[in-house]
Amino acid sequence: MTKCPDCDAEIDLDEDEVEEGEIISCPECDAELEVTQIHPVHLIVISDDEEEEEADEEEGLGKEEEEEEEEAE
Ligand SMILES: [Zn+2]
Repeated sequence: MTKCPDCDAEIDLDEDEVEEGEIISCPECDAELEVTQIHPVHLIVISDDEEEEEADEEEGLGKEEEEEEEEAE
């Protein structure tokens, strides 16, 4: 029996029916899980960090402004 790493729900997965790298969804919490290993099956949660990437771009613009201040000195 495999457990969801996110919500600990038991997932009835047959290790003969999945492949390494396969993406499945948890039936309980709907998290996207990647099969990283079979025999025994090991799952990891795929983090949805698209929003974080957008935030990094905004931070990059702020750093450019700081560099201009150094030139004035
Ligand atoms: Zn879950």
